[in-house]
Order: sequence, then structure tokens, then C-alpha cells
Amino acid sequence: MEIVVSGVRPTGNQHFGNYMGAIRNFVKFQDEFDIPCYFFVADYHSLTTHPKPEDLQNNVRQILIEYLACGLDPKKSNIYIQSHVPEIPELYLIFNMLAYKGELERSVTFKDKVRSQPENINAGLLTYPVLMAVDIIVHKATQVPVGKDQEQHLEMTRTFARRFNNAYKVEYFPEPQPVSLGDKLVKVPGLDGKGKMSKSESENSAIFLVDDEKKLRKKVMRAVTDAGPKEKNQAMPEEIQNLFQLLELVADGETIQQFKSAYADCTIRYGDLKGAIAENMEKTIKPIRERIHELEADDKLLKEIMHEGATSARKSASATLKDVKEIIGLR
Ligand code: AMP
Repeated sequence: MEIVVSGVRPTGNQHFGNYMGAIRNFVKFQDEFDIPCYFFVADYHSLTTHPKPEDLQNNVRQILIEYLACGLDPKKSNIYIQSHVPEIPELYLIFNMLAYKGELERSVTFKDKVRSQPENINAGLLTYPVLMAVDIIVHKATQVPVGKDQEQHLEMTRTFARRFNNAYKVEYFPEPQPVSLGDKLVKVPGLDGKGKMSKSESENSAIFLVDDEKKLRKKVMRAVTDAGPKEKNQAMPEEIQNLFQLLELVADGETIQQFKSAYADCTIRYGDLKGAIAENMEKTIKPIRERIHELEADDKLLKEIMHEGATSARKSASATLKDVKEIIGLR
């Protein structure tokens, strides 16, 4: 049986990369397939950076609102907050015994953090892939809609699932696959000319779902470019490739082709390219932004959804935990 699980960390507002790489696919899974879907707000994961309590609480609420605004529907999906399901940390404890320090240290994300925040290499950062694996296998999920940056973590999830099955000579956990409903996993670039769009880079490199039209346009128009192609059919530098990638995510085929031809024959005007990106991005984000503002005031609805989501997620998680304890002899 196919089961879908995915989540987002509440570390700030969600950006266009989160939407295109993850949430848009969550909604498609929910709407187009008749399979159980679990989507959560990964609040335990965000504790690695020690957020202030009030910020954490607001961010959890904001992600929930943004999930709903993007089209997740509690009637069709189980939507819950990770920390409302105590079976997750219990299973995490068990799985920590099956994960080795060496393999965790080799995780690209961990190595990045060691470089970027040497003053805060806590144990939670090291075992992050274990918690992520548990988030997924706690529902015995088979498919995980995520962006390309999560490919390695998914590989580790499969390793841990397989290791459990081998250690206890059972075929209990399936090996979950990262999926996108397009033909490949998406990596949305940032506007600063390098790397992916991310919450932690500068505020101006990401377009947030809450950004109003003016702000969105201003950020896109400021995106990094070069001086323009000097020769026909010249290769594109990274910052221009990034702009074309953004255009391809939002514009129609004819518009994309028109700008590609203009680049190839050196007649391109980057202002026009950015204008087209901003205009088409706004078309995608506008209805989401409007719905975010509608939901912001509806505390009662948000509480109900969190409560119902926790109940259904706990039902599935406690069944798995019970089986695992039985299998490993914690009877
Ligand atoms: P995070 O914001 O790191 O918690 O990521 C939440 C989800 O959004 C994960 O599935 C990521 O793979 C996805 N994601 C984050 N940034 C990007 C990006 N720039 N492009 C594509 N997917 C992304």
C-alpha cells in the first residue's frame, strides 16, 4: 500500500522554493491519488537552532496557515504538528541505536552546518537524519514529496529502514522514495545568483508566500545578473541560468522560448526577463497570499485542525511503535 509523508520546518515564512519543491506536490498527491497522506510541521527539527519560544509558536502557526492556503485540506490529508505525536520521539530513541556516528557525520547537511555554525554543533544536528527517517517510517510511508536537497536524507532513511529489517529479520518497513509529481526533483534557485532559494540566506534572495506584489517585484528586479551576452549562443553564467530556471517554473512555453532566443542572439534585456518572472510569479502566489490573510484570524479552525490531525497521526504512529516494540523485544 502506498503512503505519503512529508513536512516543513517552522523556521520562518515559506518561500517560493518550499512551494515549488514541496507543498505544491503535497497538494497534488492529496488531490490526485486515493492514498493516505500525512503532512506535518516539523517543530522538533527547528529546535536545533534554539528559537525563542514565542517565535517558534508563531512559526508553527504560520506554517499551518500556509499549508492550508496552498491547498492542503484536513478532510483529505492528515495535517499535524510533529511534537503533538509523542510516539515520534520514542521511535527516534530506538532508531538512534541503529544509526552510526560515522555515517551521520558524512551527511552533506551536517558537514555544511559544521562549516557555517561551528559554535552550535549539537547532538540534535548530528542525529537530524534519524529524526527525519522516523518522521517518515512512523507511518510506514513509501513516497516522500521533497525538494532535491533532501535526496541524501532519504537515502539514509532507506538505510535505517533496511537495517532494522535486517537486524530483526523482518520485512516490516518499506524503503521510502523521494518523489516529485513532475519528472524530476525541483531545486528552486535564489535571487542572489548562487545556490538554492532558502530561508537562511539573505532576506532578498527569497520570495516569500506572504510578500506583497510590490515587494515581490522589487526583489525580482534586484536579482543578480551579468553585463549581458556578448557573443551569439554564449553559455549562460549561473546567475542567468537561475533566472531562466525561475522563468521556466512560472511562465508558458512561448514566453520562455522568446527569452531564450533573445539570449541566444544577444538582444535580451534582463529588465524584461525579470519583469516576466515577477508577473508570472505573482499570478501563482497571489491566491495563496490572499488565503493566508483570510486564515490568519481563524484561531478556532486552526486549533480544530491541529487536534484532529494529532489524533489521526497518533493512531497510525502508535500502531507502528507497538509493532516495533514487539519486534525488538520491548514487551
Ligand atoms: P525546509 O525549508 O528546509 O524545511 O524545506 C522544506 C521543504 O521544501 C523540503 O521538502 C525541501 O526539499 C523543500 N525546499 C526548500 N528549499 C527549496 C528550494 N530552493 N527548491 C526546492 N525545494 C526546496
